[in-house]
Amino acid sequence: MKLAARAGRIVPSPTLAITAQAKALAAQGVDVIDFASGEPDFDTPDHAKAAAEAAIRTGFTKYTPSSGTDELRHAIAKKLEADHGLRYDKSQILVSCGAKHSLYNLAEAFYEAGDEIIIPTPYWVSYSDQVLLNDATPVFLPTFEEEGYAIARARLESVITPRSKAIIVNSPCNPTGAMYDRATLEVIADVALRHNLLIVSDEIYEKICYDGITQTSIASLSPEVFARTVVINGVSKAYAMTGWRIGYAAGPKELLTAMANIQSQSTSNATSISQKAAVAAINAGDEFPSRMVKEFDRRRRLMVQRLNQMPGVHCRLPQGAFYAFPNVSGVLHRRGPQGLLTTPADLATYLLTDARIAVIPGEPFGSSAHLRLSYATGYEAVATGMDRMEAALRKLS
Ligand code: PMP
Ligand code: GLU
Repeated sequence: MKLAARAGRIVPSPTLAITAQAKALAAQGVDVIDFASGEPDFDTPDHAKAAAEAAIRTGFTKYTPSSGTDELRHAIAKKLEADHGLRYDKSQILVSCGAKHSLYNLAEAFYEAGDEIIIPTPYWVSYSDQVLLNDATPVFLPTFEEEGYAIARARLESVITPRSKAIIVNSPCNPTGAMYDRATLEVIADVALRHNLLIVSDEIYEKICYDGITQTSIASLSPEVFARTVVINGVSKAYAMTGWRIGYAAGPKELLTAMANIQSQSTSNATSISQKAAVAAINAGDEFPSRMVKEFDRRRRLMVQRLNQMPGVHCRLPQGAFYAFPNVSGVLHRRGPQGLLTTPADLATYLLTDARIAVIPGEPFGSSAHLRLSYATGYEAVATGMDRMEAALRKLS
């Protein structure tokens, strides 16, 4: 069978694949601790569930407008204005089946052969593959742990060519947990304006920030920046609603119209019932995410403290999201029962088989020195998992 060339350019989402492997082991009764899943362990709030139940009972189970219900787009517009002072018309908001789908609609509407899309590394796994699926070229912009993963102006300028078309910004960042300060956002915005780049601002971890810092949307910096930014967000992480599949994009009307047209010819509307649940979740405000963040914070501190006590491992304290991203280069090239562990992938396999903890190796995020561990799991799970990891690392020779 001759498949389309684009299908051969990509791999299945590694985060989803490893998470599925961990869940399958747990289902077989294996005592595995899952630090792989990129989703809150909290249950979806009751008010969102109740809205979905009411939707089912009252027959709100048919097609909705392809771009989302007026009610949900209104709730999103209200939220974006309240949180960031961003004002969008309904026609500038598109509700899709998760933020991943929002990003994909954007990729289809905006990227094409010859375009270069700038992706700061380390990056979330799907950005580069979505670029490749749409015939464009990902251009990786290195950022460094010792600089807090900030974007340096000179380095950003150095990757720009006449083909540069967009830059993807993800703050707080999956996998590093880093959050861009205002100065960094201003550098990105300034360079984007001068070189005519679209700014794709993935703000899915917006509500998961620590130490009293709040996330700034780059779109809020100035009217000029607003006009060339697409904000991507959704309910998956903030409201523990990963399975409901509601994400959204808000941005320039011409682009959003093109994305809406693509959606109307591909998936049509996101699930009607989930849209009702999303309205309830968004309208309820920050009480739920704040409660979650408080608990994540305890686990964050415990996990990072324990990682930093392990020989050969060091880990920055993440400022947002729910991932620790320890540097494990000091552990690589040691010997385990199956031989030398030369890469994070080898180490992740060793940790799964020997310590029964599931982690994601750094490679799919563009790092050959790190692992990603989600602490959206449970305080006790973090404590036990760290004991197991430390014991496993101490066995290496
Ligand atoms: N962006 C980032 C950075 C993510 O980690 C995720 C998690 N899957 C998404 C987008 C997509 O989220 P969803 O499709 O569940 O809304
Ligand atoms: N974003 C989550 C993660 O990074 C979910 C998995 C995915 O969609 O890739 O683990």
